[in-house]
Amino acid sequence: MREKIKVKTPVVEMDGDEMTRIMWKMIRDKLLLPFLDMDIKYYDLHIKNRDITDDRVTVDAANAIMEYGVGIKCATITPNADRVKEYDLKEMWKSPNGTIRSMLDGTVFRKPIFVKNIKPSVSTWEKPIIIGRHAYGDVYDNVEIAVPGPGKASIIFTPSGGGKTEEKTIHEFKGPGIIQGIHNTDESMLNFARACFSFALDQKTDLWFSDKDTISKTYDARFRDIFQREYEENWETRFEDAGIEYFFTLIDDAVARVIRSEGGMLWALKNYDGDVMSDMIATAYGSLAMMTSVLVSPNGCYEYEAAHGTVQKHYYKHLDNEETSTNSMALIFAWSGGLRKRGELDGTDSLVAFADKLDEASVETVESGIMTGDLLLVAEKATHNRKVNTTQFIDAIEKRLHEKLQ
Ligand code: NAP
Ligand code: MG
Repeated sequence: MREKIKVKTPVVEMDGDEMTRIMWKMIRDKLLLPFLDMDIKYYDLHIKNRDITDDRVTVDAANAIMEYGVGIKCATITPNADRVKEYDLKEMWKSPNGTIRSMLDGTVFRKPIFVKNIKPSVSTWEKPIIIGRHAYGDVYDNVEIAVPGPGKASIIFTPSGGGKTEEKTIHEFKGPGIIQGIHNTDESMLNFARACFSFALDQKTDLWFSDKDTISKTYDARFRDIFQREYEENWETRFEDAGIEYFFTLIDDAVARVIRSEGGMLWALKNYDGDVMSDMIATAYGSLAMMTSVLVSPNGCYEYEAAHGTVQKHYYKHLDNEETSTNSMALIFAWSGGLRKRGELDGTDSLVAFADKLDEASVETVESGIMTGDLLLVAEKATHNRKVNTTQFIDAIEKRLHEKLQ
């Protein structure tokens, strides 16, 4: 028996719900625990446990990520009215991701997993495009009024310490309409910029930021200026040393350039732009089940997860004793991403190497034609392609991993 790799610092693990919870246990038992000696700080974010603890467990998990620096999270149910009934919940608890994100004040980066036999819809993309979405403010935290009829709409700022009130007319309505007020803060924009520069450097990839500064000369221009100043003050030399670039351009131009590019950049976007573009990029890369996600806090804490949800439909099939073919790639990459980062922070080369091998074993399994149903639909046709069930897929990766670690 080979010796297990010692993980020096505790790893924060957050268990989740439904189909992803089932795959999570298999990954842990077959792909991790046989090889690693880990001190796991385990937080069970199962919907029922969140309910029992009045969601304290989510807050505790976020605190643990801040204490230890790296967390790895399974997908979790965000309760809605149906879920409150289904699980007989005391309350419609908030999204755990929302809670953790706001406690860490982090930025979410989504990165696709590349396999040779699944070609992106955009044929020139040869490298992953990472999306960095600012997850604060703008239209997600807006105030809206439905205007019933004629009248004047204005925007007013009243300084707390006294001083001059500023007022501008938005529109003189002659009939019904709508108005919307949005905001952002310099602090949040700066944290976003820092997370993006830091992640670009971590990934050794160019950073693009784009918004609509030609039209929005105060709001979007502020984002642009904060990025530019932060770059010049704190990152320019480090970027030059790493051979990467920071580049700002108008969002229209960025869209055109991204489509013509070969990929391989981190594209930072405002909240709404990032929401929409990340779905477009994910779809173009083939499957949501091949998209990983990492939350990076401005002070260097990391939380890794899959971008997809709990795959509820597959779970119900599973409960009905039907065979499922659910893809565990993004969950496995959440673990390998977290463990690699842990290894880098602790200076444990063997752990970094293990994470690389786990990625390779997973990718090569798919490239050898062994794949789940979602991938079979988008992979290049080949006679050796074979659809396997949820368990068989993980077993095939396990077999390859053992071979690699011989
Ligand atoms: P979902 O879990 O992402 O699944 C939507 C559909 O995408 C599935 O029905 C399946 O399509 C396909 N899919 C997603 N992941 C897959 C995988 N690993 N392998 C194969 N196919 C996959 O979204 P949802 O069903 O709308 O949401 C379920 C629950 O997840 C909700 O309660 C939601 O709150 C939660 N959620 C959590 C997170 C998170 O924790 N980060 C994110 C999003 C949603 P087919 O049915 O066509 O096979
Ligand atoms: Mg979206």
